[in-house]
Amino acid sequence: MNGLMMQQPLLISSLIVHAERHHGDQEVVSRRVEGDIHRCTYRELAARSRRMANALAALGVKPGERVATLAWNGHRHMELYYAVSGSGAVLHTLNPRLHPDQVVYIADHAEDQVLFFDLTFLPLVEAVASRLKTVKRFVAMTDRAHLPTSSKLPDLLCYEDLCAAQTNRFDWPEFDENSASSLCYTSGTTGNPKGVLYSHRSTLLHTLAAAMPDALNCSAADTVLPVVPMFHVNAWGLPYIACMVGAKLVFPGPGLDGKSLYELFESERVTLSAGVPTVWQGLLGYVEANGLKFSTMRRSVIGGSACPPAMIKLFNESYDVHVLHAWGMTEMSPIGTVASFKGKHGAQSQQERYAVMAKQGRAIYGVDMRIVGEDGADLPWDGKASGEMLVRGPWIVASYFKGEGGDPLVVKGEKGWFPTGDVAMIDADGYMQITDRSKDVIKSGGEWIGSIDIENIAMAHPKVAMAACIAAFHPKWDERPLLVVVKKPGVELTRDELLAFFEGKIAKWWTPDDVVFAEAIPLGATGKMLKNRLREQFKDHKLPTA
Ligand code: ADP
Repeated sequence: MNGLMMQQPLLISSLIVHAERHHGDQEVVSRRVEGDIHRCTYRELAARSRRMANALAALGVKPGERVATLAWNGHRHMELYYAVSGSGAVLHTLNPRLHPDQVVYIADHAEDQVLFFDLTFLPLVEAVASRLKTVKRFVAMTDRAHLPTSSKLPDLLCYEDLCAAQTNRFDWPEFDENSASSLCYTSGTTGNPKGVLYSHRSTLLHTLAAAMPDALNCSAADTVLPVVPMFHVNAWGLPYIACMVGAKLVFPGPGLDGKSLYELFESERVTLSAGVPTVWQGLLGYVEANGLKFSTMRRSVIGGSACPPAMIKLFNESYDVHVLHAWGMTEMSPIGTVASFKGKHGAQSQQERYAVMAKQGRAIYGVDMRIVGEDGADLPWDGKASGEMLVRGPWIVASYFKGEGGDPLVVKGEKGWFPTGDVAMIDADGYMQITDRSKDVIKSGGEWIGSIDIENIAMAHPKVAMAACIAAFHPKWDERPLLVVVKKPGVELTRDELLAFFEGKIAKWWTPDDVVFAEAIPLGATGKMLKNRLREQFKDHKLPTA
C-alpha cells in the first residue's frame, strides 16, 4: 500500500524559491574581481537567476547540457548555480587552478557548451579556447564597462548584458528529481580526473543533512562565509544550505589572503566559515602577527585534509572559535562525517574534548560507513583497528560520468559500497579518525605508519609552519617516514631539535628517520599537500642508517 502524501520532486530551484519567499531581504555580499563590494538580497538574486535562466534558453542551452564556470565565490556564480541547474541543465564548475591541459581535458570530457568565467581567468580561457572542442559561447562574468575590448575570444558575451536583455519572469520547470544537476571532477592526482555527476535529489538530501545542528549547524541567524571555493565540490554545499536556512552569505571573491579574509569577517560580522587547513593557516598567521581577534566568528568548519590539533586548540583558546572538523570527498557531495559533540562530552575535560574534535567525526544521517581489513572482513569499532573505509548513501557516487575509471562500487568482490581510499579507525561512539590515504600510507617492515599523526605532532611545534610526512626508501624496512618541514619565518630550527619534540608523543618506531627543511610544500588545486610530488622530489633521499 502506498502512502497518501504529495509527490513533489526534490529540485534545486525550490531552494532559491524558498529563500526569496521567506528570507527575501536577507543579504548576499560579494567581493568582486572588479574590486568593489557588491550587495544584494535573496529577492534580487532570485530574480537575476531567473533572468539568467532565460538567457541560457536564448543561448540555446537544452536540459541536460553542460554549462561550465571558471569563477570565484560570488553572487554571479551563485546566480548560475540556480539558473543552470534550476532550468534543467548541468552546472559544471571547472577548477581554474588546474593545469590548462587538464582544463581542456575536463571541458572536452564534459562536453561543455557554454563557458562563463571571471575576468581573472581571461588569460586562461584565451589560452585554451581554440582547443575546446564543444564550447560554443564564452561569457565574461562582468559588466560592459569592464568587458575587455581586445579579447582573442570569438564573440565574447557580457554577463550583465545577457542578464539585462531578459525579463525576470521564468517558471522553474518541474522534472524528475533524479535528473543531473551539477558536475565536479576529482582532482586526478592519480590518472585522469573523474566526473561526479550529482542529481537534484542527491543535492537536496545532502543539503538537508548538512545543515543539521550536528553537521554544519547553519541557521537564519548565521552569516556564512564559504572560503572553500564554489569550484570545489560546490563549496561543500554552502550555496544550497544558505538558501535552505536563510543565512546571510558573504563571498570573498579572489581575496583569499589573511588580510582580505579577516577584513570581510569583521566588516560583515561573519559567524560561520568553512575551508581547508592551509587557508586557515594564512588567516591565523595574519591575525596573530597583527594582534587581532574575531569579534563575531564563532565556528569554523575545517576539512579537505586533516586539521592539525594545534590549530583546533589555537582557534579555541586564543580566538574563541569552535572548530568543526569535517571529512568528505567529491564523490560524497562532499560531507560524510563531522566531529560534533555528543551530550556525554559536556562532562569531559577540555583535553578529552580536544581529542574528539581532532577526529574526523561521526557519520551524518544518510551516510553509512564500515572499515574493512585487507581480506575485506569488517573490523571492530574499537578506536584501534584501522582499515579501508567504505561508504554508501543517497549522495554518494554510484558511477563516474561516462564510466571513466571503471565501476567504483566493486570492492573486494562486493558491490554497493564506495571505497574511499582512506584508512581509518572508528571508535565505540562512532567517531572516525583517518590515519592516512591508502596511497600515502608508509609501510615500514610490513607495518603501517600513519603520516597524519606525525604531521600533527610536527605542526604543534611552535617553529613549524607546515609539515608533510612521506615514505622514503629504506634498505632494511622498505619505507620509513621522512618529514618535510617549512619553518615559520625568521626562526632557527634543527633536525635534532624537531625530532626530540616527538619523544614521548608517539611510538619510537613511528618517529621520522629524518627531517628536511623546504621553502614550501607543493599544494594541489584544492589546497592539499601534493605528497606524490614530494615523494618524487625526495625519491633519492638517503635516510641516515644508524
Ligand atoms: P581529491 O583531493 O582526491 O580531489 P577531494 O577533494 O574530494 O578529492 O578529497 C577527498 C579526500 O580528502 C578524502 O578522501 C580524504 O583523503 C581527504 N580528506 C578530506 N577531509 C579530510 C579530513 N578532515 N581529514 C583528513 N583527510 C581528509
